[in-house]
Amino acid sequence: MARPRVVILGGGFAGLFTALELGSGDVDVTLVTDEDHFLFTPMLYEYLSGEVEAWHIAPPYGELLESDVRRIQDEAVTIDPDARRVTLARNKEPLSYDALVLAVGGITNYVGVEGAEQNSFPFRKLRHADSLRKRMVETLDHIPPDLSPQDVRRELTFAVVGAGASGCELSTKMADLLLDAVKRRALHGEPRVLVVEMGDKVVPGMGDPIREFVEEALRESHVEVHTRTRVVSVTGDSIVFEHEGNREQLHTACVVWTGGVKMRPLIEQLNVEKTARGLLKIRPTLQLAQHDNVFALGDIASFPDAAPTLAGTAQLAFQQAGLAARNVKALFKDHEPQMETKHFEELGEALSLGTERGAVLLAGGQAFGGALARQARFALYTSRLPTWHHRLRVGASWFFEGTAPRPLLPLGLER
Ligand SMILES: Cc1cc2nc3c(=O)[nH]c(=O)nc-3n(C[C@H](O)[C@H](O)[C@H](O)COP(=O)(O)OP(=O)(O)OC[C@H]3O[C@@H](n4cnc5c(N)ncnc54)[C@H](O)[C@@H]3O)c2cc1C
Repeated sequence: MARPRVVILGGGFAGLFTALELGSGDVDVTLVTDEDHFLFTPMLYEYLSGEVEAWHIAPPYGELLESDVRRIQDEAVTIDPDARRVTLARNKEPLSYDALVLAVGGITNYVGVEGAEQNSFPFRKLRHADSLRKRMVETLDHIPPDLSPQDVRRELTFAVVGAGASGCELSTKMADLLLDAVKRRALHGEPRVLVVEMGDKVVPGMGDPIREFVEEALRESHVEVHTRTRVVSVTGDSIVFEHEGNREQLHTACVVWTGGVKMRPLIEQLNVEKTARGLLKIRPTLQLAQHDNVFALGDIASFPDAAPTLAGTAQLAFQQAGLAARNVKALFKDHEPQMETKHFEELGEALSLGTERGAVLLAGGQAFGGALARQARFALYTSRLPTWHHRLRVGASWFFEGTAPRPLLPLGLER
C-alpha cells in the first residue's frame, strides 16, 4: 500500500525539525522550501560580525536530511485545503498531500511607514547580513582620513528600528564593529548607532533582570537609545522620527528594520480561521480547526497553550516540531487517531550584545551577563543546532578555531 504523503512547507525551525523528527518510515515526506539551507537565526548577528561562518549556522538541507526525505527547492504559491493540493512557483505540477504541515514563517513588517520597505535593510536572512556588512564597509571606505570628527559621525550614522531583542543585539554588534574599524583606520571621532523604539523601554518583552544587562551593553557600545520615538519615514539616506511631537530628520548611512513580523501572502490568502493579527488559529494539537489533516506551527500559528513570551520564537517553533511529527504520524494510525497536546514553557533567553558580551536568562529567572554569558550562549546554541553530526562539527570548530569577530576591512580585503 502507498505510504501517506506528508508535505511540509518551509524549512525553518518548525519545518526542518518536523522533517527531521518524521524522517522516513511510515510516511512519505516532502519538504518544500524556497532556500537551499536552514538558517539558525539567533546567530545571524554573529554571522554579521564574522564570529561564526555561514556553514556553522546555515547548513544546506542536503547535509541534514536523510536521502529518503524528498526536497523541493521552490516557493509554494497557493494552498487548496479542500482539494489537498499545493501549487509551486516554478514546478508546474501541483503537489498533492494526505497531510500538510504549514511552517513558512513570517516576513518583516514595516507597519506602513513611508519609504521603509523600499529603503531600509531587513535582517532575517544570510543575504541581508551580507548586504548590511557590505554597506558598513563601503561607508567606511568612503571616509577620507582627515575628515573632522563631526563629519565622521554624520557619515557613519546607522539607525536600527525596534529595540526588541533583535534591535538591541544588532545595534550593539554594529556599534562594536564600527568603533573597531574607526580605530583600525585611524579615523577621527566615532560612529553613531541609534536604536529607535516606539515603546518606553528596550527589550519590552523581557523582564528587568536581563534588561539591566542589555542597557549596560547598549551604553558600553555607545548605542544611542531613542524610546517613545516613532519612525515617520525612511529615504535612501535619511530617517525622520518623532518624539513628544518634535520631528527630526537625520542623515543615515542606512536604516535597518527589526520592528516586527507579519504574515506572508500565502497565509493571508488562506481562507481559514485567523486571529486579529492574521495568525492561523490552531487547536492544541496544532491542527487547523476546519482541516484535521493540516497542521500549522511556528511564527504563523497562534498556539493556545504556550507561555506568552514564547510567541514568535524559534524556541516555540522548535518545540512544536516534535508535537507536529507525533500528531502527523498519529493521523495515519489504523485505529482512532490519538492526538497529543503539550504545554510549552520558556526555556530561558540568550542574547549576543556586541562582539564581547552576552546576557543569559535562565529558566529559573536568574540572569547573568558579560564575556561569560557570551561563551555560555555559544555552548547553549551548539546543542540547539540541527543533527548530532552538524553539532559536533560546529562545536569542534568553535572550540578549536575560536569565535573572534572579523574586523570590517576595506572592501578588497573582505572575504
Ligand atoms: C535575526 C533574528 C534573530 C532571532 N533570534 C531569535 C532568538 O534568539 N531566539 C528565538 O527563540 N527566536 C529568535 N528569532 C525568531 C525565530 O527565528 C523565529 O521565531 C523562527 O525562525 C520561527 O520559525 P518558523 O519555522 O516558523 O519560521 P522560519 O524560521 O522563518 O522558517 C520559514 C521557512 O519557510 C521558508 N518559506 C517561506 N515562504 C515559503 C514558501 N512560500 N514556500 C516555500 N518555503 C517558504 C523560508 O525561506 C524559511 O526557510 C529570531 C529571528 C530573527 C529574524
